[in-house]
Amino acid sequence: FEPHPDRRPVLIAGASSGIGAATAEALAELGYPVALGARRVEQCEALAAKIAGNGGEAFAHHLDVTDTASVDAFVTAAESALGATEVVVSGAGDLSFSLVHEMDPDQFLRQVNVHLIGVQRLAHRVIAGMIARQRGDFVMISSDTANNPRPRSGAYPASKAAVEVMARQMWMELEGTGVRASLVRPGPTMTGMGMDTTAEIIGPVLEDWAKWGFARHPEMLRAANLAAAIVAVVSAPRGAHIQLIEVQPEARV
Ligand code: NDP
Repeated sequence: FEPHPDRRPVLIAGASSGIGAATAEALAELGYPVALGARRVEQCEALAAKIAGNGGEAFAHHLDVTDTASVDAFVTAAESALGATEVVVSGAGDLSFSLVHEMDPDQFLRQVNVHLIGVQRLAHRVIAGMIARQRGDFVMISSDTANNPRPRSGAYPASKAAVEVMARQMWMELEGTGVRASLVRPGPTMTGMGMDTTAEIIGPVLEDWAKWGFARHPEMLRAANLAAAIVAVVSAPRGAHIQLIEVQPEARV
C-alpha cells in the first residue's frame, strides 16, 4: 500500500490488542493519524507511544463501546487531538463459550451490546459529521461464524450475524453520501481472543464441535492479515466501495 496523500484521522475501537492493534500500526505506517480506544487504556497508551516512536501520529483514550457517554468522550477527545474523524474501525469483540440456553441473559445481552449496539453507538456519534463532510469510511468487523455458527459460542454468532445485516442496511442508507460502510469478515485468527481459555473450558467446547463435524482450525490467520484487508478497504480509491471482504487462512502447501 502507498502512504495516503491526505491526512485522514482514524478511530479504532478495540485497539488494545489483536486485529485492532495491528490495524492501528498498519494505518499509522501509511500516515493515517490513529486514535486508539479500549477499556485497557494502558495497552492503547503503550501502542500509541510505539507508533509515535516510529514517526506516526497516535492518540490513546479509554473506550467502552457499551457506554454511550464513553463513546462520546472518546470521539470528542480524539477529534480535538487529531481532527474530524474520516475513518472508523469498529473492532471490539467479546468471545464466550456457553450454550445459548445456559447463558445468563444479562451476559448474552452484554455480548450483543459489544458486537451490535457498540457499533451502532459509534455510527450514531460519527456518521452525521462524515455525511456533512461528504467523506468517510465506517468499517465493521463480523466473523465467519455469522454464517456458520458453532455450538457453545454464546451470543457470538448471532450478534455477528446481526452486525452483518446492519452493515448491508447501512450500504443502502449511506448511498450517495460519500460515506462507505464496509464489512470485514475474518476467519479464525490468532489473537488474544479465547487463547487464555483453560483446558477445563475448551474440553467440552471441542467435544461439542466434534459432534457437529467441526474441528479446531489447522491454520490460523495473523492479526496483520486482517489489518491488510482493512487497509485495502479504507484506502480504496473514491469511486470504488469494498462493501464486504472475507479473509480465510490459506491451506498449507
Ligand atoms: P482481541 O481479544 O485481541 O481484541 C478484542 C478487542 O476488543 C480488544 O482490544 C478489547 O479491548 C476490545 N473490547 C472488548 N470489549 C470492549 C468494550 N466493551 N469496549 C471497547 N473495546 C472492547 O481479539 P481480536 O483482535 O481477534 O478481535 C477483533 C475483532 O475481530 C472482534 O470483533 C472479533 O469478534 C473479530 N473476529 C476475531 C476472530 C478471531 O478468530 N480472532 C474471528 C472473527 C472475528 P479491552 O478488553 O481492552 O476493552
